[in-house]
Amino acid sequence: MRLSQMLWVTLREDPAEAELPSHKLLLRAGYIRRVGSGLYAYLPLMWRVLQKISAIVREEMNATGAQECLLTQLQPAELWQESGRWDTYTKAEGIMFALTDRANREVGLGPTHEEVITAIARETIRSYRQLPQHLYQIQTKFRDEIRPRFGLMRGREFIMKDGYSFHSSESSLKETYYEMDRAYRKMFDRCGLKFRAVEADSGAIGGSGSQEFMVLAEAGEDDILFTEDSSYAANVEKAISLPPDAIPSHFDKFEKIHTPKSGTIESVCKLLKCDSTQVAKQVLYQVVYDNGTTVLVLVSIRGDRDVNEVKLQNELTKLSANYGGKAIINLQVADTDPQQKWAHSKLPVGYISPNLEDSYIDKVAGIAPKFLRLADRTVEHLQNFVTGADEADYHVVGANWGKDFTLPTVVNLDKAMAGDRAENDPSQILQTARGIEVGHIFQLGTKYSQAMKATFTNEQGEELPLVMGCYGLGVSRLAQAAVEQSHDKDGIIWNKAIAPYHVIVTVPNVGDAKQMEVGESLYIALSTAGVEVLLDDRDERAGVKFKDADLVGIPYRVVTGKAIADGKVEIVNRATKVATLVAIESVVDYLKNELSS
Ligand code: ATP
Ligand code: MG
Repeated sequence: MRLSQMLWVTLREDPAEAELPSHKLLLRAGYIRRVGSGLYAYLPLMWRVLQKISAIVREEMNATGAQECLLTQLQPAELWQESGRWDTYTKAEGIMFALTDRANREVGLGPTHEEVITAIARETIRSYRQLPQHLYQIQTKFRDEIRPRFGLMRGREFIMKDGYSFHSSESSLKETYYEMDRAYRKMFDRCGLKFRAVEADSGAIGGSGSQEFMVLAEAGEDDILFTEDSSYAANVEKAISLPPDAIPSHFDKFEKIHTPKSGTIESVCKLLKCDSTQVAKQVLYQVVYDNGTTVLVLVSIRGDRDVNEVKLQNELTKLSANYGGKAIINLQVADTDPQQKWAHSKLPVGYISPNLEDSYIDKVAGIAPKFLRLADRTVEHLQNFVTGADEADYHVVGANWGKDFTLPTVVNLDKAMAGDRAENDPSQILQTARGIEVGHIFQLGTKYSQAMKATFTNEQGEELPLVMGCYGLGVSRLAQAAVEQSHDKDGIIWNKAIAPYHVIVTVPNVGDAKQMEVGESLYIALSTAGVEVLLDDRDERAGVKFKDADLVGIPYRVVTGKAIADGKVEIVNRATKVATLVAIESVVDYLKNELSS
């Protein structure tokens, strides 16, 4: 491609709309343009990158025997009503764009395709003889994200590879799941990414086990915890650990103590000269279920620990049937504002005990009359601990479960932290890193097939729900993650496997006939040899062209400058900036060799 003919505009200044280096660079280098909130046009250079990534994904998926297909982006509401996700996705979470067609039928724009594929499997799969099956597609997805940001990282319209597998048994599912794990690693390796596979929460998609693939980058939105030897790695949402042991308490008598202005752990510990591991603190949440019922949740957790709200959400989802609901619409800390809706009288915030009386809750329709009390396992074995006295400015010390307080149901809610010991090997300490989630693979089990009655007949003639897996990969997010991981102050540094072009031939002065002639002939020779090449034949200053070449990040730059007098050109490696003089007639071989290494 000749740059003089390409619609290509670079920006000198950082665009105000962008925060991340990768987002700024993709805008500045003319790869993407913002069309609206979370909406980006992929300009020709970007589209080439996306197609390269897609090609790698296709090759590795096809190599496993998975079959490519293309499902519909418009999805009838009925399918989502069958799985029970219509209301959560369109109303509660609101992630799904929904619309009404001219015949007054409700449809959604596909954020994911479990429902559509399960409906197809229900109609096409009858017998165990047809199993296993694995279908995938590469397609634009739509999600009405609460906070679209960081360019392609969190768009409202983005490209995803999603695959769905169907099995007659859990063991067959596991085989495909591990095969996908290997295929994903190959894809990310081929794209030149530094990544880590981590245990993940399965979220609203559901199912038993799941794993995410994280591209390691400071700008990542996810926190990862891992051990030095990589025997354990998990998203912090999912991570478990061994918290430090509590320091034994020196309070040997149960008593109420005046602790004015000590509503925080730090202040009460200072006043009572105790350690935060000796305190049981209460955190109050409120959860709204999809049937409209609000439940106040009182979580007891050790003073030095925080609640992992993803774990809490999962526990509360399990308990939803107790309150007549199926799913959670909202979960939040019940601080001053929400308290106004249900608190009968002012709560002793900062001084609450595990026994806080239910009479604090007003008798209002739609509000459960009793606190749902949960204890994190960090408080289970505390002895002679400190906690609130349910009265402002007072604490109790020397408290014990069973004697002074009733131990609520014990669950694991605490947020694992860097510095904790690993549960699988307590001699190892968890470390932390940030990552960008580029892939997520799930063992779904029978969640969708059961709900949607997608069954098959096994060898014994029994009718059973299909066992399912699903495998997502963010193609457009991956492209930007690659830039986030590989750039310098001058611009993007593409890995040659996904670069839009391999080589840029820069003619410093298009007015110089000899320079142009060498540039043209190299451009043709390289193209003929199958090298993807750009010719910078624009009538611009050499400085501008060099800056643009660095910015756009093509792996090799060939400069037809002064050296042509000696029959040579300069070849600059974008990543290392090393410049080599190469004889004009050897350029094609030299570059073909570099590109294949
Ligand atoms: P996140 O936690 O980042 O919101 P998710 O867990 O909802 O993502 P999945 O449903 O697992 O995402 O989707 C599969 C893949 O699609 C993700 O691993 C990610 O790479 C990509 N993806 C998801 N949401 C977006 C988005 N809004 N913009 C770009 N890519 C996305
Ligand atoms: Mg995910």
